[in-house]
Amino acid sequence: MIREIITYPNKLLRTKSSDVQKFDEELHTLLDDMYETMIHSSGVGLAAIQVAIPLNVLIINLPNEEEIQDKEDLIEAINPIITHKDGVQTFVEGCLSVPGFNEEVKRADHIVVEYFDRHGEKQIMETDGFLSVAWQHEMEHLSGHLFIENLSIIKRKKFEKEWKKKLKKK
Ligand SMILES: [Zn+2]
Repeated sequence: MIREIITYPNKLLRTKSSDVQKFDEELHTLLDDMYETMIHSSGVGLAAIQVAIPLNVLIINLPNEEEIQDKEDLIEAINPIITHKDGVQTFVEGCLSVPGFNEEVKRADHIVVEYFDRHGEKQIMETDGFLSVAWQHEMEHLSGHLFIENLSIIKRKKFEKEWKKKLKKK
């Protein structure tokens, strides 16, 4: 089922999500719905809070070398923690909760992340580049933050101005 994606400045996006306790049917339905919702909106990542569920759940599905978003590459992460980060990279990011806005964000390059899959099996992933950006972007949602909070004051002001105009037009 496709769920509604909440957008900035919805206050729910500022919620700090809680850990999943049960790896049950309800979690699996949430994950399946999140996947459907993300694909429907042409996204490459989605956190549960973006569909108004304050749980530490995120999914990432980056296009492969052939530019195909293969479900085989889908990452489903429950209760993820970044255990290590180093290096710096700058990447132009966007977000389904801030539609139509893209801006450069500076983040760590290399990360190690620990999480659980949908069956409660512990997983460890070490990555860098775009996938590392996606992880850090989605993790930020779980802590109640958005990528626009990383912008410089000038860029943030410019964004707020443009965003207000856009909301008025609706
Ligand atoms: Zn986002």
